[in-house]
Amino acid sequence: MGKKIKKENLEKLFADIGKEYKIIAPIKKRENYVFAEVEDFSEIVLDYPMTILPPKEFIMPYKEPIFVFENGEFGEVIPNEKIALFALHMCDVNAIGRLDFVFWNDLYYKARREKMLIVGISCKPIETCFCKSTGANVLTNTCDLFLKAEEDYYVGFSMTEKGRKLLSQLYFGPETVYVREVKIDYDEKLQFDIYAIGKRILEDYNNPVWEETAKNCLACTNCTLVCPLCYCFDVIDETFVVPEEGKRIRCWDSCLLLSFARVAGGHNFRKDLKARYRNVYTHKFRTFVDEFGVPSCVGCGRCTTFCPAEIDMREILFRLGGA
Ligand code: SF4
Ligand code: SF4
Repeated sequence: MGKKIKKENLEKLFADIGKEYKIIAPIKKRENYVFAEVEDFSEIVLDYPMTILPPKEFIMPYKEPIFVFENGEFGEVIPNEKIALFALHMCDVNAIGRLDFVFWNDLYYKARREKMLIVGISCKPIETCFCKSTGANVLTNTCDLFLKAEEDYYVGFSMTEKGRKLLSQLYFGPETVYVREVKIDYDEKLQFDIYAIGKRILEDYNNPVWEETAKNCLACTNCTLVCPLCYCFDVIDETFVVPEEGKRIRCWDSCLLLSFARVAGGHNFRKDLKARYRNVYTHKFRTFVDEFGVPSCVGCGRCTTFCPAEIDMREILFRLGGA
């Protein structure tokens, strides 16, 4: 069941959320769109096509201290901020739901997620989107409140207690809307049977697509940085001039980097870019599915859009025989 909200009343919803949370929402920056902290509703672009980075940087920052040490003592740095992610597309919401599978028992991730509010909004899929094929086009309870755009109003759907509290405010309703399922429906340009690809990917280990793609790939890691579901990280110690003081840092990493699978003694398990590239797909479409039942890809299209070598993930999936 949903409740209608007039477009002009969204500002009231925003103001209400702002009383309790720091709000992160999509804004325009030069020719692109990014998620950033927003204090005024007028800064938000509600009908944005795609942001460069997904909102993962507000759940697992690019670089964060996990503990500090000083004079033989150490203290954990547990995040304590209440963040509202506002106006997320369905793919980005569901990417967070899939990250939850991996990180829910992580102290730092969980501290942020438990205090977080997620408000989703309708999108207009662009050419590179394939969320339908990955099953990420359907509303799930990762989203506290979802705003489905209609002609001159939105319909709000609450999926959690936090969402229900907002939906009970006077700027929603009184009319109610009944639907069995909320989803983003559109004509996907290339449709895939992602699960069939995943099943075949190891048997088809020497498919020429890996060699050919590796020849063009720059190993720049753009695709993994912009991916809402790439979550590899490294851990480094930063010590200050006084050696008894310092901090342990967690920062993003990428399995496409040469150093990623290098171990003590100098051996590298994935020295060739071909092997590293194949590993990205094997993890996303086979081993993650084996572990959690869904791919670690929501078909947001960012890896294709922001690849400087114009490598298109959909073409590779197509060549792996999944269309
Ligand atoms: S963004 Fe493109 S060129 Fe860069 S690592 Fe990814 S596939 Fe290779
Ligand atoms: S692999 Fe590409 S399409 Fe899939 S979620 Fe990551 S960036 Fe989006």
